[in-house]
Amino acid sequence: MSATGPEDVVIAGAGPNGLMLACELSLAGVRPLVIERLPGRTEENRANGLVGQVVRMLDRRDLYERLSGSAGPPRPGPSFVFGAMPLDLRALDDNPLYGLPVPQRRIEQVLEERAAELGVEIRRGHELTGLSQDEQEVTAEVTGPAGPYRLRARYLVGADGGRSLTRKLTGIGFPGVTTDETVSRTAHVSLPPAIIDAATGGLDVPGYGIIPPFMHHRTERGLFVFAPFAAGSPLVSTTEWDPGHVGDRPFTVAELRESARRVLGADLPLGPPEGEGPHLLRRLTGRNTRLADRFRERRVLLVGDAAHVHAAIGGPGLNLGLQDAINLGWKLAAEIHGWAPPGLLDSYETERRPAARRVVMHTQAQTALIKPGAEVTALRELFTELLADRRNVQRIADMMAGADVHYDMGGDDPHPLVGRWAPDLLLDTPSGQVPLARLTAAARPLLLDLTEDAGAAKEAAAWHDRVDTLTTSCPDPNPPATALLLRPDGYVAWASAAARPDSRERGALRAALTRWFGPAVLSRPAR
Ligand SMILES: Cc1cc2nc3c(=O)[nH]c(=O)nc-3n(C[C@H](O)[C@H](O)[C@H](O)COP(=O)(O)OP(=O)(O)OC[C@H]3O[C@@H](n4cnc5c(N)ncnc54)[C@H](O)[C@@H]3O)c2cc1C
Repeated sequence: MSATGPEDVVIAGAGPNGLMLACELSLAGVRPLVIERLPGRTEENRANGLVGQVVRMLDRRDLYERLSGSAGPPRPGPSFVFGAMPLDLRALDDNPLYGLPVPQRRIEQVLEERAAELGVEIRRGHELTGLSQDEQEVTAEVTGPAGPYRLRARYLVGADGGRSLTRKLTGIGFPGVTTDETVSRTAHVSLPPAIIDAATGGLDVPGYGIIPPFMHHRTERGLFVFAPFAAGSPLVSTTEWDPGHVGDRPFTVAELRESARRVLGADLPLGPPEGEGPHLLRRLTGRNTRLADRFRERRVLLVGDAAHVHAAIGGPGLNLGLQDAINLGWKLAAEIHGWAPPGLLDSYETERRPAARRVVMHTQAQTALIKPGAEVTALRELFTELLADRRNVQRIADMMAGADVHYDMGGDDPHPLVGRWAPDLLLDTPSGQVPLARLTAAARPLLLDLTEDAGAAKEAAAWHDRVDTLTTSCPDPNPPATALLLRPDGYVAWASAAARPDSRERGALRAALTRWFGPAVLSRPAR
């Protein structure tokens, strides 16, 4: 069997997370090779949108407008749901729940187009079938349209979804829970106009009452969702617990209508969808909640669903997976370029596995809160009381958005922003006031110096081949910091509140630059 390579990085899987990683590596100057077993983009309907910090992160890569199709920055929504309980976000000081209602097919299309612009090669119809590794490289066995071949690479990333072969072949454990107690049914449908409630846009079901749109709606018998998207037929979804044997008969809209009747205790006159498809008709039995016991095995790493699967409640999957890819991209590129400081690549797992663990926790908590039963109803009453307190709403919103992620960046008494995602600053530039999001599309480390003496920028000058600096000012009279060192994933590695950082702070800046971007002087220039 022929062997080609070595490639710098092979990514197995051209789903959203593999494509995002490919874009990030390319921006960092590494040209990955993506292999994807499917011959074309899938028509499968999965995510209906993105929720949380990832929406702002995509804006920081200039991808938000492409995805939303509208000009202007992302804005957080006025409400959301946690465990089928409404979250009123209007009173929050800092509402982190940004949403982007774009189907996964479109997200993959935009990411694939971006990858193509950046010169990424995607081999479709090429399936990873085996792999081995030694100290120097990974050898992937691949079957493509012309038959099997071997591909050598310095690193291989499994972005091959929840059933990841990469994960299995590297022996990475995937502990967690698999249950078969639920059946979820989802379909595009048609509904008589008379039952659409003009005031709420929801449903006015005869014999039941009003069901608001885009809300998980729990009854004592199951869960119901009505999602009237602006384009196409409305989506209706039910979830039932322990519904008996489903069998292998094909799923139909009539079966969904029967299920809705059981959940609501009233007949909802659903019909088949009208107009052009593709139309969704999906029945899923059971659910998996699993987290890889490690995200790296020597030269093989996992990203996205390959590393974690959980209930889709609240739509956290791509908020987690795309930010995995953005966390990993620059670190892996630094490794390939040869300037990665010790431990940088391992920080991918130490930072992202706890973030995934938290999503596992809150999706399981929400799953418990939507089950039928009197105890659950009591628990919901208690939660409803707790959610009357704005601070609890903020806490839950931050958790669902991933805005509460706080990486340990070390340092003595660091500025409160250190380890957190950088706030959306407005900055003065020669071309006018510019939001931070317009300065980060290149995915480079960035030092923002708003101090009086530009002292931070001077300290960072010795890293100029890897770290961009911007000496600027800020129209905000009380900016959250006077100087910030941002990693390419948008997290703050160092910050100061001083008008002129003193020698201790400048020392901490040099330490942060070295910790994340290597020594000031490289023995050979950074690629
Ligand atoms: C019903 C449902 C609704 C969801 N709703 C939302 C939502 O609203 N919001 C949200 O954020 N998330 C949602 N999710 C989760 C989201 O769809 C996933 O998190 C996302 O698809 C994961 O992306 P990925 O790139 O990691 O994996 P995948 O999308 O699974 O992509 C993996 C790719 O790898 C390829 N592949 C597999 N094996 C191989 C191999 N051996 N060789 C080469 N290629 C291979 C596959 O063909 C596939 O293209 C939902 C999921 C489901 C199931």
